[in-house]
Amino acid sequence: MSKKTKIISTIGPASNHPRIISNMIKKGANVFRLNMAHLKKEQEVIDIIDMVRFESSKLGRYIGIMMDISGPKIRTDFSSLEENKIHVKKGHVYSLGFSKMNDIPINMDVNFKSNKNPINSYVKIDDGKINFKIISISNNIIKIKSVSDFIINANKGVNFPGVELKIPSLTNKDKKDIRLGIKYNVDWFALSFVRSPKDINDFNEINKGKNRIPVIAKIEKPEAIENLEEIISTFDGILVARGDLGVELPIYKLPILQKEIISKCKNLNKPVIVATQILESMIVNPMPTRAEVNDVANSVYENVDAVMLSGETATGDFPVETVKMMNDIIDNVEKENLKFDEIEFSYKQNSKYAIGKAVNTVSNNLKVDAIVVMTESGSTAKIVSYFRPRINIYALSPHLSVCNRLSLLWGVTPIQSQKYLSTDEMLINAEQILLDNKYIKSGQTFVMTAGVPVGISGSTNMFRIQEVE
Ligand code: PGA
Ligand code: MN
Repeated sequence: MSKKTKIISTIGPASNHPRIISNMIKKGANVFRLNMAHLKKEQEVIDIIDMVRFESSKLGRYIGIMMDISGPKIRTDFSSLEENKIHVKKGHVYSLGFSKMNDIPINMDVNFKSNKNPINSYVKIDDGKINFKIISISNNIIKIKSVSDFIINANKGVNFPGVELKIPSLTNKDKKDIRLGIKYNVDWFALSFVRSPKDINDFNEINKGKNRIPVIAKIEKPEAIENLEEIISTFDGILVARGDLGVELPIYKLPILQKEIISKCKNLNKPVIVATQILESMIVNPMPTRAEVNDVANSVYENVDAVMLSGETATGDFPVETVKMMNDIIDNVEKENLKFDEIEFSYKQNSKYAIGKAVNTVSNNLKVDAIVVMTESGSTAKIVSYFRPRINIYALSPHLSVCNRLSLLWGVTPIQSQKYLSTDEMLINAEQILLDNKYIKSGQTFVMTAGVPVGISGSTNMFRIQEVE
């Protein structure tokens, strides 16, 4: 049985190498993430995409590429300073703003005046490690008082928890990055700092048409929590971005928020990813902490689609070992945890959901060894996955890009197939593919769903139980 919960690995200096990419795939990575906050050169992005496509095809595996658009993330920008860091002292007051004249220059021109009075709120730098109290504001400069002695490094995140900043959802670099992602056919986009369902609009201005690439909303702002259901409905998937979320909101609220987001995604059938610090200690250690092992396991118990590695594979000392460790935890929990709740579908009375439900019921109650989904666009595979059946879902699509995209979804093993002319041909060929790959043996049974007549997207209307001779 293949693992059902998928692994997303972020590529960075520690893993930007064909051999490491190949080893990470072998150990269980399903999707690679390009973190555009750190990728400044177009050619570098193109090279990574080419490398992932090349290494995955060499291994005969379908691997997704997720381009994570950085959005309006405010960071310290010390390019104009002599030293690449600033020492701050407890009780001292500093100015912070876009102009290089400020004590702490940032990368974005923010009009603080347009906000509700933020005086006495805090500014947090570097994942909340450095805290300042806001003393005064004047248009685009803010005066802040340090709560402790600290060193601020360049390029560190600057958060204004509780302060609603009026900044656009996409920067000019984001727009360029989106165009690049479309040109080089990435499989998923993610958008950071989503605040409102409307944030999809500017994105879709660029990303539209028949080949529109699905966009995942990263939930990391309090405003996103307030608009959660609308955001989940509007976007194509959700990422629980616990890093910034734990700075923007009190960190002890994370477990409840994570559960709430996952459960809402399940109701609305949107893929959901749990991210950040999941095996954090493996950045510097070959072994994770016990608590981290349990964090991965918890996501598996929650049946999320994927768990994501960030620093662990981007900059850590053990990228391949971390993927292997994550894979081992997932495998082990899934072996023991095959009791899934029956999912009801009363709110979505359409024939695809009815078939998805039927496939699940049959595969749970009869002795069935595999599920085969013939899928043009991937949408039927997503619905079958939604019911979280116990056995593997083999999604056969004639389109390579659909196969790569489906690698993110829970329980789905994508396989590229030919285009079929008849139902009989489809059935015979699908059976042969399962046999050739040793996914099934003679005497076993599989369930197949398809649309008839064949080859038309969105037509799923049949399912069949087939014994292999
Ligand atoms: P980031 O997003 O790694 O792009 O900041 C994830 C998070 O904030 O958890
Ligand atoms: Mn973030």
